[in-house]
Amino acid sequence: MRKLKDFKNAKQTNNKKRDRASMFLAMFVVLMLAVVARVVMLDNGSVGDNGKITVSRPIELSFSDVIRRAEDIKTMEIRGDSATGTLADGTKYNATITYDPEMLATLAKSGTSITIDTSKTFFEGLVTFAPLLLTILFIFWILRGFRRSGPAGIGRSLIGQNPTKIATGKPKTTFKDVAGIDSEKQELAEIVDFLKHKDKYKTLGARVPRGVLLSGQPGTGKTLLARAIAGEANVPFFAASGSDFSGIIVGLGVAKIKEIFEMAKRNAPCILFIDEIDAIGQKRSTHSYNDQDREQTLNQLLIEMDGFANDTGIIVIGATNRVDMLDQALLRPGRFDRQVYIELPDMAGRREILDLYAKKVKIGSEVNLQDLARGTTGFSGADLENLLNEAALHAVRNGRSEITSDDVEEARDKIIMGPRKIRKMRPEDIKLTAYHEAGHAFVSLMYADITDPIHKATIIPRGRALGMVQHLPIDDKVSMTLDEVRANLSIYLAGRSAEEIFFGANKITTGAESDIAVATRLARYSITTAGLSKRVGLAAINQVGTFGTRGALENASEKTAELVDNEIKAWLDAAHADATKQLTKNKKTVEKLANALLEHETLTGEEIREIVFGKKKTANKTTKKTTVRKNAKAKK
Ligand code: ADP
Ligand code: ZN
Repeated sequence: MRKLKDFKNAKQTNNKKRDRASMFLAMFVVLMLAVVARVVMLDNGSVGDNGKITVSRPIELSFSDVIRRAEDIKTMEIRGDSATGTLADGTKYNATITYDPEMLATLAKSGTSITIDTSKTFFEGLVTFAPLLLTILFIFWILRGFRRSGPAGIGRSLIGQNPTKIATGKPKTTFKDVAGIDSEKQELAEIVDFLKHKDKYKTLGARVPRGVLLSGQPGTGKTLLARAIAGEANVPFFAASGSDFSGIIVGLGVAKIKEIFEMAKRNAPCILFIDEIDAIGQKRSTHSYNDQDREQTLNQLLIEMDGFANDTGIIVIGATNRVDMLDQALLRPGRFDRQVYIELPDMAGRREILDLYAKKVKIGSEVNLQDLARGTTGFSGADLENLLNEAALHAVRNGRSEITSDDVEEARDKIIMGPRKIRKMRPEDIKLTAYHEAGHAFVSLMYADITDPIHKATIIPRGRALGMVQHLPIDDKVSMTLDEVRANLSIYLAGRSAEEIFFGANKITTGAESDIAVATRLARYSITTAGLSKRVGLAAINQVGTFGTRGALENASEKTAELVDNEIKAWLDAAHADATKQLTKNKKTVEKLANALLEHETLTGEEIREIVFGKKKTANKTTKKTTVRKNAKAKK
């Protein structure tokens, strides 16, 4: 509360300062104009007076006077539409004339000596001086910008200018709002305790952290956690983003850093949160102009962090997803010496996060959140929240009053695969897709005891996929056995096998592209990185790639590279042959599956098992695995 008021005041002073600056500018312009005008006038004056001292006041002559008294006029100097000179009796005169050749002729005839002054009139002068004037104004304007934002600053208007850039207030968020990352919460509980009981730590002389660095992928809850710390400790929370500190104007970053720290000091104890801290704290490398500015900003941050006493009660929390990019200086003791890495939530964590957000929406009792947690490997907290929100939207769109498992499925598929494609497909393409997916599904069931259970099969196009078979892991998998690798290769290639069996070798399609890519990657990883191939052995040939990435054959001689290529081909061929064999043996069942897909478009894992094994045998979920195995054998 107090903070918000402060904030307003700061803005008002800024406005005042800005007004003063405008006035200053206006005065400057007037002054400049005056100077220019004066230059022109002095110039004219000197021509007019010819250096002589005027004794008497000149008389005024009108244009007609001039014509009438042409004989009397001894000299005339013409400047624009005014003329000066002396009469025959020595009297000085001023005249307003029209520049008229007739008049000149008359005067000349009467013996007047005429000089026409071509030096500039006032307005002509202004035009000539305009570029110069503009340049001066421009320089002044830039200087003004510099001063306003520079360290020496006339005005501290930075935050006033961008009031939205700094979020402030005492957050209501607490640790209860953060789910699934308990160990991280525990690590940070100490910070909360320190903020709450500063004096306890002071008397003990304990060194308390000044800076905490939260690292982790986007959406893992770093900001949320920082807010929750402030909320738990009931202290103000200031948030800025590293990207706000870099600008076109040099010195802006430094001034902004000073500003937020000043604000924090005025409001201590408090949390000062700097998101995307890598934008300021990147390793110092090149020496471009931009980098120099950033370096100054980083230095200022370090100075500020070193500057406040340990018991001030300011905790600076930085967040980044690129901790490897950070300058080591930031990580030294007394700066961000506490580092907490927030991982993507595991299955249990995902369940907790889903439970948390499920409370905030109306969700049907038949929705299985545990299954959803299983099927969302790699989802961040933010993704999971988004998923339930998408599901709620889908429910509303379909006129439902609560979220069903359909809505959840739709939302999940949309996030993973992209929105449904309304694609006009030829009937023969749809048919081929159905057989292709039926092939995957069937071979999956054959290996149900060692691979992830099948979740569903669909021929609804989505993203780039024409159809798909999804599996749900039972738990978080950290490694695979050789058997599992082989089984998965068979499942991946079973789509192509089905195309060949039911449509013929010449009718196979490019639709198996991604299956082949995934299978090749898995085989390559197993052979070159995981040492699963007897022929290639235990050598780590591919050190760049991890699972799922290709990587170069770094440590391979040409011979080894060839061996690897042959081995990959052998594994894939074997898997393809295995899938073909299983599908050929069970052609009728696969056909039944394909027809069911054509009819219903989507089949759940349960429905697929029913079609393949019959109803009764799948009723008991707990014995499902052994049942599957037995039946698979019985089918032969
Ligand atoms: P980050 O700062 O790591 O990018 P955020 O804290 O901004 O992530 O997370 C975005 C949103 O996602 C949060 O506001 C919150 O709604 C949700 N969220 C992320 N992680 C969690 C979590 N562990 N528990 C509850 N909600 C979370
Ligand atoms: Zn496929």
